[in-house]
Amino acid sequence: KVLVGNLIGEGHANYVLMYNMLTGIRIGVSRCQAKMKRPLCDADFTAKHKFTFDIIGRELTPTAKYDFKFKDYAPWVFRELREHFHLDAADYLLSLTSKYILSELGSPGKSGSFFYFSRDYRFIIKTIRHQEHKFLLRILKDYHEHVKANPHTLLSRFYGLHRVKLPHGRKIHFVIMNNLFPPHRDIHETYDLKGSSIGREYPEEKAAAKSGAVLKDLNWLKRGREIELGPEKRALFEAQLQSDVALLQRLNIMDYSLLIGLHDIRRGNKDNLRQDNLRVFQPETKELKRQPTQIKRPGAGEQDASALRQAVRRSDPKALNAQQGSKLPDRDVSERRHFLFYQDEGGFRSTDENNQPGSMIYYLGVIDLFTPYTSVKRGETIWKGLTQNRHMISSVPPKEYGQRFFDFLCSVVTGGDKSRRPKMWGFTE
Ligand code: ATP
Ligand code: CA
Ligand code: CA
Repeated sequence: KVLVGNLIGEGHANYVLMYNMLTGIRIGVSRCQAKMKRPLCDADFTAKHKFTFDIIGRELTPTAKYDFKFKDYAPWVFRELREHFHLDAADYLLSLTSKYILSELGSPGKSGSFFYFSRDYRFIIKTIRHQEHKFLLRILKDYHEHVKANPHTLLSRFYGLHRVKLPHGRKIHFVIMNNLFPPHRDIHETYDLKGSSIGREYPEEKAAAKSGAVLKDLNWLKRGREIELGPEKRALFEAQLQSDVALLQRLNIMDYSLLIGLHDIRRGNKDNLRQDNLRVFQPETKELKRQPTQIKRPGAGEQDASALRQAVRRSDPKALNAQQGSKLPDRDVSERRHFLFYQDEGGFRSTDENNQPGSMIYYLGVIDLFTPYTSVKRGETIWKGLTQNRHMISSVPPKEYGQRFFDFLCSVVTGGDKSRRPKMWGFTE
């Protein structure tokens, strides 16, 4: 999967779905947000708010372009989570729904999930299976407790959990989360690291041919990459990772990874890979003509986006840089500055042995948290274990998975404990 998207316009196969998702969010979230704040209670973790939209319009919901049903899960919990993650409520809604524009990530992976970016690239909507949805609800309380106790967690931030039901009965569950990558920086290399080796290599020939490929553990090792951190930042990173992994182990989760994007300050943004990142504003794609009722806030954001779009159209790199270098990043970086691992230009900057800043910025976090070690996975462990090294396949029990993940990541930090890396990898130096 590559982080470029296709703009969804009217006529796109998923336009109706996008319209319904965004309409549901717009109404559901603003309704909850309008109420007086109150402390959470147990029932909030299992609460569901239902909305019915139709083209005729109803007493309680505005007219919509299509008939559909929308469910908002644990709305009060997510409201509190968003607040905890320093998201401004109005800003959140504006990013997602002030215009009905999302871009869709190319072909979905083997999990079948679809990924959508908000138009400003700050948020990702991921469609998930019913099982995953139920699982997130089951662990929501622990997750909530954990992020409150760990304000600097590296785990994915979840901002909302919803469901759209189409008239013929199809149900689509989706979660809204943070995009780890910033809109205003080229990401020079992307890795998805698990700490296992089998099947963990992206073909280098293919990687050379296209920028933005998501590389894996073996590419990382073969290219001799390290997370360059001095003693201070290394200790902070290891401590947080340990705490996050302990939660995932306790919740019986596996198959997650550390997603890490590298930005080399010396190389800067001159390659303009951001044009890929910002394909939301694809020049050749027609813009949506008919806009649904909008939340009115004719703010700077609007103008920036359209100026940016125009700049892309004219392919004027100077105007594009001026735009991207100004308004867009400010907004994005603003909530990130509260978090240790996201406070340097939206990421975590490298340091040397004397803790002095280096030239790399890491955009990193632990993603894909909805796979519990179920009987299916257990079967995979046994089956694959028969033919391959039992400890090097992705699918191992959560305790072992977490330990291996943690050990591996500690071993790839500069000055980290290389002896933690399994010898059989052959990259232990
Ligand atoms: P699978 O289960 O097959 O691994 P999946 O559909 O569950 O796939 P993820 O592993 O969650 O998908 O994510 C796939 C890719 O999407 C990641 O490798 C990354 O490139 C991108 N991605 C996922 N989450 C984020 C995020 N929060 N920020 C930026 N990119 C992300
Ligand atoms: Ca994954
Ligand atoms: Ca997955």
